[in-house]
Amino acid sequence: MSKKWRLTDRTRTLLLMELAITLPALALMGFSIWNLKHIQRDKQIEAAIQRDLQYVLKGVEHKAWDKSVALITPLQKEFPSADDPEKAKAKLGELLTAHPEFAYAMLYDKKTNRFISREQPGRENDPTFCALADETISSTAKWLPLESGSLFESLRMMEKKDDPGLGFMSDWSNMGGARTYTSLAYFIPSNTPHDRVTIGMLAFDPDFLKSHFFPQIIKDSLANKNGTMSNPPAVILRSPHDYTPWVASDNWDGGKPEVDRTFLDAFRGLTASIKYPGKTVADMSNNFLHYNYTVLGALSLFMIGGILLTYRNISREMNLARLKSDFVANVSHELRTPLALIRLYAETLELGRLNSKEKYQEYFRIIREESERLTALINNILDFSRIEAGRKEYEFKETNLAELVRTTLESYRFQIEQHGFAFEENISNDVPPVIVDREAIARSLLNLVNNALKYSRDKKYIGVNLYRSNGSVNLEVCDHGIGISPDEQEKIFEKFYRCGDPLVHNIKGSGLGLSLVRHIARAHGGDVKVESAPEKGSKFIIALPLDPSARTGAAMA
Ligand code: ADP
Repeated sequence: MSKKWRLTDRTRTLLLMELAITLPALALMGFSIWNLKHIQRDKQIEAAIQRDLQYVLKGVEHKAWDKSVALITPLQKEFPSADDPEKAKAKLGELLTAHPEFAYAMLYDKKTNRFISREQPGRENDPTFCALADETISSTAKWLPLESGSLFESLRMMEKKDDPGLGFMSDWSNMGGARTYTSLAYFIPSNTPHDRVTIGMLAFDPDFLKSHFFPQIIKDSLANKNGTMSNPPAVILRSPHDYTPWVASDNWDGGKPEVDRTFLDAFRGLTASIKYPGKTVADMSNNFLHYNYTVLGALSLFMIGGILLTYRNISREMNLARLKSDFVANVSHELRTPLALIRLYAETLELGRLNSKEKYQEYFRIIREESERLTALINNILDFSRIEAGRKEYEFKETNLAELVRTTLESYRFQIEQHGFAFEENISNDVPPVIVDREAIARSLLNLVNNALKYSRDKKYIGVNLYRSNGSVNLEVCDHGIGISPDEQEKIFEKFYRCGDPLVHNIKGSGLGLSLVRHIARAHGGDVKVESAPEKGSKFIIALPLDPSARTGAAMA
């Protein structure tokens, strides 16, 4: 009956735990794993990283545009008119001297068909520079008169749209044997009258672009990345056709870039490329996944541990609840049986109908034994409730243990022998006086002897030994009874615990005796041990230390 109750209750708790904790937790874990797998399949992390890199390149292009507009617009305002060629040439020279970032300037007026050009005065002694400038100026002088009308129209359109009225022509060329990139801006000079078609042009110095303009822009674009990342990305600018960097950030380490962006507008013909030095994005996304799997694994282990722990605790609590309810049933039975016997025998005696003196003696003995059992049981229960409430106190006194054991057993000897037990008492002579609570030790001994009586079948033997062993005095109670299986040997000292052996369930008991014995032994600074094998008998050993400092007086049961 009680087994069935336990089973259903356990199953219910288990189901509840599964529903309330395990299922959501498992679902969460499953979802995370699915999510990670999904991310892996879709290469979402790689895409996210690439988007981030693309964003950096977009920043580089925007900054390059803004900065070039900022450099050119002030000069657009100061550009001379072509009406006086000498004056215009001088003015262009002045502007170039003040702005060494430009290589040369050109001015074309359609009405007068005048083409005026001026090279950077500071670079007049640089033949490579001059050769490149000469070449562009002479070719521009040829095509600009033909194209000036349409260029002018498109610039006016831009201005109407509130855009900076700026157009750009850019190209790769050879300068001193190296490929170099330059960009030429064209615009309508600010002071151009409405009825005139005039085009101004300014070419960036390729060295300025390569050594100052772009390195600074790349630096600015990576600035916020440098602060927050241990491995900030590296950027290069190159021609679209090969990966040789024209401009590179300091941390560029070669190899294939992750993301490219080909510039439009101001710096057409330039490609910006970006990557993380050392690592590929695929490596990084793998690292991310590994890290997440590891964290998920560790969390799962913690969770499983937590569930097991909760399950164990619940089981333990349920066991205790079951033991308690068994205890109440056992104790009520144990109280009722001796009382019924005492009443029965007392009534018989009262009638005075017994015919022999022996019968009277036997009835008196039974009444005494039963009342002793009752007293022992009630003492156990009282002690137990005091211990549970933390109110158990011991009265430690120097005691001659040999004498205590002898007198305690004396009143029991007759009963033991009456039950057909062979009784052996071995008290060694060298047992020194020990400081103990007399009553508690006597009760422990009686509990052990009582158990030996209860849990023996045919081999009826009880041995009690008292001897000195190193720093303690050992009190042993041996029997040749039913024994205790190894897995129950620790549990029998727990409160309410009774062995699963069917014989034990036919013998009355409360499951409190041994827990009291252990509490008492520990309160004396010692302990109780059992050596036993099923059907081979048991030996309980209470070790009491001679050193009184080991006592606690109120050790936990
Ligand atoms: P009980 O009132 O059940 O005897 P105890 O705490 O004294 O309670 O003992 C706990 C259990 O340990 C007993 O129910 C019994 O199964 C087992 N036990 C105790 N002493 C012996 C023994 N000498 N031989 C076999 N089993 C024993």
